[in-house]
Amino acid sequence: MHPVIILGSGPAGLTAALYSARAHLTPLVVDGHEAGGQLTLTTVVENYPGFPDGLMGPDLIASMRKQAERFGATLRGGSATAVDLSRRPFRVTIDGEVEECQALIIATGASAKLLGLESERKLMGHGVSTCATCDGFFFQDQEIIVVGGGDSAMEEAIFLTKFARRVTVIHRREKLRASKIMQEKAFRNPKIDFTWDSTLDEILDVHQGKVTGARVRNLKTTAVTERPVDGVFLAIGHTPNTQIFRGLLEMDEVGYLTTHDGTKTSVPGVFAAGDVQDRVYRQAITAAGSGCMAAIDAERFLEHAAV
Ligand code: NAP
Repeated sequence: MHPVIILGSGPAGLTAALYSARAHLTPLVVDGHEAGGQLTLTTVVENYPGFPDGLMGPDLIASMRKQAERFGATLRGGSATAVDLSRRPFRVTIDGEVEECQALIIATGASAKLLGLESERKLMGHGVSTCATCDGFFFQDQEIIVVGGGDSAMEEAIFLTKFARRVTVIHRREKLRASKIMQEKAFRNPKIDFTWDSTLDEILDVHQGKVTGARVRNLKTTAVTERPVDGVFLAIGHTPNTQIFRGLLEMDEVGYLTTHDGTKTSVPGVFAAGDVQDRVYRQAITAAGSGCMAAIDAERFLEHAAV
């Protein structure tokens, strides 16, 4: 029996772990399917306060893990596959093993969205990727497409120009969603081109088992053109990891957990922090801040609840 179980090991989960460990709640942190979360899939983080020269995302996560462990948090691998929130103690199934807790903090984050093409699924890892920092190195002097118009798409496109001969950003509208500073950086980069009002109809060539080209559809004219490319990077946003909480906790139409009065969910004793409940800000620092709030909310709940 654990006083607190924390699901997820990104900045939200690890900050919740730090605070609840310091409150002597000996939290168990379950890594989840992507240990460390999205920061482990990024390079330099320049907007985390306290690091004027920036730092690498994976290094920030490694430091957070160390800091949480120093105060008594236990980190374990695996993912929660089912939860029973009908009564306390709550029951959490982690890869077949059941653990019990008096309070649960959900910090399971969000995962990369896909376009929904069969070719995209079949060629994932064979030229199709959702992580430039993981796979960019394999595309030395090659032609790459990045799909998306947000900050992630700009960041990935800029990063990929370190390796690629040319990067073409394909965006479904004629205006980017990305912040001004990221747009300007991308527009200034001579290796980046833009194709507006367009999306991918197909990624070629499943039969060859690698990316050789893409069919690009202009959404205004409906014209489809085929172009040779070696890699396709998808940066079209994320979906919250809340499948196992469907029907158990209130969530919005997309699946983001609904919180009230800080980090409280619809079940007393269950708290949510980070991207899993935030469709607006989604920054490392806001995730960490809400992880801190969830730990304090859980501590107060346990003080008042009959355990
Ligand atoms: P996002 O802001 O939601 O942008 C997603 C982009 O993908 C949008 O341009 C969207 O088009 C497009 N898109 C969505 N579904 C699509 C589909 N099915 N087909 C084609 N295009 C599709 O997501 P994000 O870029 O991952 O950013 C998420 C959050 O993290 C944001 O708050 C962002 O500011 C933050 N972030 C910050 C930084 C930084 O500060 N350096 C870096 C990365 C991310 P529409 O524009 O038409 O909707």
